[in-house]
Amino acid sequence: MTGSKKTDIISEIKRMKAEKNAIILAHYYQTGDIQDIADFVGDSLALSQKAASNNADIILFAGVKFMAETAKILAPGKKVLLPDMNAGCSLADSCKAEDFKVFLKENPGRTVISYVNTTAEIKALSDIICTSSNAVEIVNSLPADEKIIFAPDRNLGNYVLNKTGRDIIIWNGACHVHEEFSLEAIIKLKRENPEAKIIVHPECELPVRMVADFIGSTAALLKFSKNDNSMCYIVGTEPGIIHQMKKENRDKEFIPAPPKDSTCGCSECNFMKLITMEKIYNCLKDEKPEIFVDNNVINDARKPIERMLEISEKSGLI
Ligand code: SF4
Repeated sequence: MTGSKKTDIISEIKRMKAEKNAIILAHYYQTGDIQDIADFVGDSLALSQKAASNNADIILFAGVKFMAETAKILAPGKKVLLPDMNAGCSLADSCKAEDFKVFLKENPGRTVISYVNTTAEIKALSDIICTSSNAVEIVNSLPADEKIIFAPDRNLGNYVLNKTGRDIIIWNGACHVHEEFSLEAIIKLKRENPEAKIIVHPECELPVRMVADFIGSTAALLKFSKNDNSMCYIVGTEPGIIHQMKKENRDKEFIPAPPKDSTCGCSECNFMKLITMEKIYNCLKDEKPEIFVDNNVINDARKPIERMLEISEKSGLI
């Protein structure tokens, strides 16, 4: 797209937003230009909270489908739009409702904590939802002897288990982006940049987490890079977050952690990157594709999400 066409599209998006009383919520893994036109940029927790409390008639989600579904569950009266319905999530796909129902039957009597990166159907089968920002606090908010099922991310589940020491059975799912980081390449980068701190997301595999100076959600990584006094960071999460890191720390350097396959851009989330400025423009203009979630699913899925928001608020996380 030429520079002037892009400028035209951006001013049209702004005009339509005002005309239709619409807001754009963008995840940190979107491209920098999309983050810059959004009304609110955040991680899954902050975006859920924003979806639950705003005065817009239309929410356009610059993110992936489970996020737009979460917005619809929390704000069923609003029109929720997703510019590309193919913007899925390998982690959400790794936990299908039919299989999960069998898993729950095989492991009865446990409180079910599901990560927000799940379909609406999985949320409806859960007791509490969590994000990587609050997973440890959510588990710790339960009585010490409570038995737990954690789904679907095995790496975040393992991280939470180690942090809390609770009785947790973990679903065997994973995110293709966070499992793709190369430990060897990260160590090589660290040798070349000994002053750099390694900061990674808890969805990364254990060996990568073990060499990290700091582990946290995207929001926590952003906060850490702002408050910490180092000048250089090796960042082990989707590189879209580096846009905000650079915006907030202009004099610091951020190096994306390399993927195992150096010939591909697989540390980028191909689902997140399906959202483009042109698709946002068309979506807002035509008010489609629109997200629909079955009313029964909305009713069952809202309670565990609201429980998450309540615990997060009490813990001072939002
Ligand atoms: S980065 Fe991983 S968990 Fe996040 S949307 Fe992409 S595939 Fe899903």
